[in-house]
Amino acid sequence: MPDAGPDAPAPAPAPADPQGWCVCGQRVAIAGARAVTLTNGRPGWEGHCPACGSPLFAIRRRAAGG
Ligand SMILES: [Zn+2]
Repeated sequence: MPDAGPDAPAPAPAPADPQGWCVCGQRVAIAGARAVTLTNGRPGWEGHCPACGSPLFAIRRRAAGG
């Protein structure tokens, strides 16, 4: 029986659960959210609304308040 090697590399860090207000009028968890940098240099999230499919953008807040 071969030695049990490392099954898999370190798991990717679980993404945050960014939420944003959608044009459909409700606050939703941004589906397919990915970290992006907005045109003004601020960190943000880009994704879409799981309810209506509209594209969503949200400001990504830093861990420490500020
Ligand atoms: Zn929506």
